[in-house]
Amino acid sequence: MITTMPSANLPTFTLAELAKNHSSKKSCYVTLGTKVYDLTDFLPDHPGGDDLILDYAGKDISDIIADPQSHVHSDAAYEILDDSLVGFLSPEDAKLANGSANGSTNGAAKTSAVPNGNPTYEATGMSTAEDLSVETDITNDFKTHKFIDLDKPMFMQVWRGRFSKEFYLKQVHRPRHYKGGDSAPLFGNFLEPLSKTAWYVIPIIWLPCVAYGLWMAGQGLTPEKLALCFASGIAIWTLVEYVLHRFLFHLDEYLPDNNVAITLHFLLHGIHHYLPMDRYRLVMPPTLFIALATPFWKLAHTLFAHNWYVGTGVFCGGIFGYICYDLTHYFLHHKKLPSYYQELKKYHLQHHFADYENGFGVTSRFWDRIFGTELPPLPQKTA
Ligand SMILES: [Zn+2]
Ligand SMILES: [Zn+2]
Ligand SMILES: [Zn+2]
Repeated sequence: MITTMPSANLPTFTLAELAKNHSSKKSCYVTLGTKVYDLTDFLPDHPGGDDLILDYAGKDISDIIADPQSHVHSDAAYEILDDSLVGFLSPEDAKLANGSANGSTNGAAKTSAVPNGNPTYEATGMSTAEDLSVETDITNDFKTHKFIDLDKPMFMQVWRGRFSKEFYLKQVHRPRHYKGGDSAPLFGNFLEPLSKTAWYVIPIIWLPCVAYGLWMAGQGLTPEKLALCFASGIAIWTLVEYVLHRFLFHLDEYLPDNNVAITLHFLLHGIHHYLPMDRYRLVMPPTLFIALATPFWKLAHTLFAHNWYVGTGVFCGGIFGYICYDLTHYFLHHKKLPSYYQELKKYHLQHHFADYENGFGVTSRFWDRIFGTELPPLPQKTA
């Protein structure tokens, strides 16, 4: 069985090959546009039954996947497809696939015509959550928008780009997808590895700190009081999460119009909106976290100045809340999730592909409701 690899290295298949070798229960491949997916392992799990997929074994599923009469497909269906990408159609067959896609009005057209078609959301240039995973044509994108050339390190382009704030904000919130979710070059030098943080680094580094802090706070508090402080810290975190995302990461309107401010905006959160599916530029790098957490350490001990142990206990709760938040954010983008999280995932992806000026809550919609920035439910999707 071929496992998923970065798409740059994936093989190509001809339609004839697919029909001959990959159109049975033993090996069931399908195509969507120019991409080839291996659905063999998924057959028994398909909510619509395995026969429905087998009918299309070795063939294109654009029409059927977009047809609500057969059965409705959620974002998850597309995510499953994403995870089972094994290659691309050979150039000759791909031409045919593109040709028919342009002539039709259904799924295939949506998938492949996004950059030129009429997107539902003007500001992001997208229509659905799946669009976040549609490969960006790097050369074309740079030619069209004159923003960042993804083939070159991004940092210097933003730093020296002399972009006006208005242009920068418009561009950075239009999601791009770099080589199947790979990390586009940021510095292009020895700093490159430092710009990437794997999700598991977060609990590995910060959980021991929380444990140590709790132990210290426990020296001066009863277990009940310590638990109460910890729980309050978590509750306070949920508000901090909202405020940071809305007013710091999306400072947009109040962002000073100069390259220092624009570059900081890019490093802080802009890059995540620009390349939302980059797995290594999603959770907070530890250095940035320390910079952001230090004022909160001071704040906790100012608010709870009467008792150092209380301040420390609350702060630990806050850090624990942060760990949960950063992991949730990563999982929403990149893992298969139980149904409650499936809803949160839709909600957060909507912040990316539809409306980045609302929907700031990542771990819940609670504060969005309170402050009137909750995203409306999406129209019933058919594709
Ligand atoms: Zn289905
Ligand atoms: Zn996100
Ligand atoms: Zn955001």
